[in-house]
Formats: sequence, structure tokens, C-alpha cells
Amino acid sequence: MRKPLFIANWKMNLTVDQNKALVDNIFQLSCINKNVDVVVCPSYTNIPMVSNLVKNSSIVLGAQDVSWEEKGSMTGEVSPRMLQDFSVNYVIVGHSERRGKMGETDEMVNKKVKACLNNNLIPVICVGETGDERREGKTDQVIIRQISKALYNIDLRTVKSIVIAYEPIWVIGTGRAVNAQEAEHVTRVINGVIHDLCHIAGCNMEDFVTILYGGSVTSDNVRYFVKENIDGVLVGGASLEAQEFCNIIKALS
Ligand code: PEP
Repeated sequence: MRKPLFIANWKMNLTVDQNKALVDNIFQLSCINKNVDVVVCPSYTNIPMVSNLVKNSSIVLGAQDVSWEEKGSMTGEVSPRMLQDFSVNYVIVGHSERRGKMGETDEMVNKKVKACLNNNLIPVICVGETGDERREGKTDQVIIRQISKALYNIDLRTVKSIVIAYEPIWVIGTGRAVNAQEAEHVTRVINGVIHDLCHIAGCNMEDFVTILYGGSVTSDNVRYFVKENIDGVLVGGASLEAQEFCNIIKALS
């Protein structure tokens, strides 16, 4: 197994001062060590400040979204190049909140994944089923569709790194994670799709794909998820408290 990867998605929750205090507290708790990879994803307005705070540390910077365009008339959008100005390395793409509330489609996700790869940014591609899709027994088919479309027309032989995060929509932010067997099953499906795509393309998925689980991860349940084919976690609510985020990291290191 590779080093566990922890990604904090702070969403639209923190002002600059609050975000600074959170990062300072994480540093004070000294929970980050060479055996783990930690990525933090502030909102756009906090990226410059967080970039400055983490620049001499092992914390890596991520963004919560990106435009698929390089520049131009895209009011409100932020380009890959603009993220690079602040040493952003990872970008969350296709989060269920963007798909569900902002109308992001599989095609838009595909364009954003391409924009990331073309600009040396690692896309964290979020996939997951709604509660209804799960009840209708469509989970596997939704996951297969979302991954195939996100990676459509991309030459996987040229990809250095991508992250796929399995985030069942019906548990996000509920405080109730899926059971570990269910997460294992879906991540096996994810492995299968990528394996098949790699087989067609002539590449080896172990070389560049990291698979995460996300959805109400806490320090109590994290160890049930990160094993075998799950390499780490994407953490929302629990990453907003330094102590709990550190406890999640410590539970695995
Ligand atoms: C998320 O929204 O990416 C997420 C994992 O949220 P939470 O941990 O709060 O369920």
C-alpha cells in the first residue's frame, strides 16, 4: 500500500482569519509526518494566505474547483494557470455539491480533468451515487459512467497522477459513513473500470491512480476505510477542526 493520502475539503466555511487559525493549529499539533501525504483545499479567496503558510511545510495545497478554460470571458472563474501562481498541486473536480447544486455535468467534469492534466495539476475526481440511485441498485453503473466520462478521450499513458474519490452522496455531511464493505465493493468497481481503461490504453493503473473514500469520515471510522484498495480519505466537516483532522491522520500513521 502507498502512503495514506488525506485531503481536507474546507468548502465555503472559513474566513481568512478562521482559516489561518485552523492551519496554525494543525501545525501546532505536529501530526503531519513523512509517512502521510496531506493536502488542504481552501476556498479561492484563502488560497494566497494558505499557500504562504504551508510553503515550507509538507502540507500540499489543493483547490476546490477550476475552470476548463485557460483565460478569457469566464466571469467568476479561476484558471489552472492562476492556481499555479499559488503553488496549487491538486484540484477537486466534480464534487457532488457542484454536480448537484451548480449543474456540473459529466462533460464539464471531463473538460476540467483535461484542463488539470494539461497544466500539471492532479485532479481529485469525485464520484458517487445518490440515495435513490443506491436504492434502485444503480450504484455500480453510476460509478462506471462517471469515471468513464471523466476520463473520456484522455491518453492514460501520459497521465502522471490522478485521484478518484468515492463519495456516496447520501452520506456526505450526515455524520453517518457507509459501512466499510460497501466502500470496498465500490472501490473494487472503480479499480475494475480503470483497469479496463488502462488495458485498452496500454498503461498500468498502479503507477498513477490513487483511490480515496469520502463521506462523514472521522477519527473513529477512518481505519475501517483505508486498507487494501483504498489509499486514503477526503474529509469535509471533520477537517474543519484541527484536533479532529489530526486525530484522523494519527489513526493511520
Ligand atoms: C465532502 O463533501 O467531500 C465530504 C467528504 O464531506 P463530509 O466529510 O463532511 O461528509
